[in-house]
Amino acid sequence: MRYQNTYVNLDTRLYHEQPPTPLDNPRVGHFNTQVAQQLGWANDEDLMTNWVEILGGQYVPANFKPLSMAYAGHQFGQWAGQLGDGRGLLMAQVLDNDGQPQDLHLKGAGLTPYSRMGDGRAVLRSTIREYLCGHALTQLGIPSSNALGFVVSDTRVRRERIEAGAALMRVADSHIRLGHVEWIASFAPDVLGEFTDYMIDTYYPECRDSEAPVLAFLTAVVERTARMIADWQLIGFAHGVMNTDNLSITGSTLDFGPFGFMERFNPAWINNHSDHTGRYAYQNQPAIGHWNLNVWLPHFMRLEGVTRETLADCLAPYEATFMQHYQQGLCRKLGLPHQRESLSLAFEWLTLLEDNLLDYTNSFRALLGLVAPADHPYEQKLLDTMTTELSGDAQQVWQDWSARYLAQIEQLLLEQAVNDMTTNNPVYVLRNSMAQRAITAAEQGQFEEVDRVFRLLANPYSVQDIANDLDSNAPAPDTPQMPISCSS
Ligand code: AMP
Ligand code: MG
Repeated sequence: MRYQNTYVNLDTRLYHEQPPTPLDNPRVGHFNTQVAQQLGWANDEDLMTNWVEILGGQYVPANFKPLSMAYAGHQFGQWAGQLGDGRGLLMAQVLDNDGQPQDLHLKGAGLTPYSRMGDGRAVLRSTIREYLCGHALTQLGIPSSNALGFVVSDTRVRRERIEAGAALMRVADSHIRLGHVEWIASFAPDVLGEFTDYMIDTYYPECRDSEAPVLAFLTAVVERTARMIADWQLIGFAHGVMNTDNLSITGSTLDFGPFGFMERFNPAWINNHSDHTGRYAYQNQPAIGHWNLNVWLPHFMRLEGVTRETLADCLAPYEATFMQHYQQGLCRKLGLPHQRESLSLAFEWLTLLEDNLLDYTNSFRALLGLVAPADHPYEQKLLDTMTTELSGDAQQVWQDWSARYLAQIEQLLLEQAVNDMTTNNPVYVLRNSMAQRAITAAEQGQFEEVDRVFRLLANPYSVQDIANDLDSNAPAPDTPQMPISCSS
């Protein structure tokens, strides 16, 4: 691998150098060969031979520079003070095959100075969820952390019950969160200039060409965050804990806890059990992204040339960027051009889904069964299922809507419409029930189901032989989607 361990050269107040605490008897969970190749890990015999020991914290290769990072954050809208890597370590920074920086971060690696009341560990259940979700989002084309693999162990970890300790080697373009800057502003304000230069040089080097690199950088963070959240909305992803310590400065999805993929469409869906007010409900995510950036940006006023007015200019593109990306994406999901008539059809369609509690993923995909039935037998079945779920009144709404929709489609090149629909409407997302079945088997020592779901989600936009009916089953309309607990 091409190591580029630069974080360890920054001011020493920003991190704590330490090795992982070994897990007891680590064993193979799953390994992502594609990520290993992209990182250059696969070309290193020592790393390939010893990957289980490395993830188990028993062996630290000579080129690794493990450290825990300090950061702070706003959690559920409140200033939470110092947080930091309480159970994860930045193990190494590398340049991947495309010359992009990638962090290798071991989650579940033991106690650090930032562990507070925690035990420094991660359980198998949450490790599998994070592993599969990073993979799912990446393969769906949404910026996200991914992982090299995970191990399970004999280390016992206490949550509501005793569970097996596990560790995940997370791979992300950066592990710097909005909360890093919040920590610096409170605890080491003199390093803000150096740290900002580091963020620009490492992750946004193109901003150096601007007349005002800091402002260009901040605007780019705002725009990337807006685009990421638009992607989430389009695919039906709810992050669940959009605290400032869980948002990356690169606009890449980070920190999977009680996340969920929308099943029966309900914009007010709250997937996090601890989110009593619905702050992080699906439909609030765009506004929360803005809220987070708005508390983050003023810290940069310490730097020369940054004023309240120039910061307002940095934040201003957020809404337009989000709207443009979201609306364009919505039109593509319907195979329509991005224009006013398409958008009104799209919003009527979403209302139909909401009023009838239809499955978000299956219903969008089902439209291929309407538009090009001959080539889409699977989608025709989805369409049948969907229409049988419509009440009497809704049948009429659907007839009326689908006639107007088809009329729009007929004016277009069908091939283009089908292509847009096929590449923007997945057949498979990581439904909670899928993750749960994989977890239940893994907790019995069987990892075949993790592997099958992993392979299924490697090609989420095409129908696959390894799928079974349960992979596309929406929960019954009267079963509320289970909120997921934060305990992990
Ligand atoms: P999260 O809710 O997972 O984003 O974590 C919020 C903060 O709590 C971060 O600083 C984590 O490092 C820390 N944390 C979460 N779980 C643990 C744990 N089991 N042990 C130590 N720190 C933890
Ligand atoms: Mg976190």
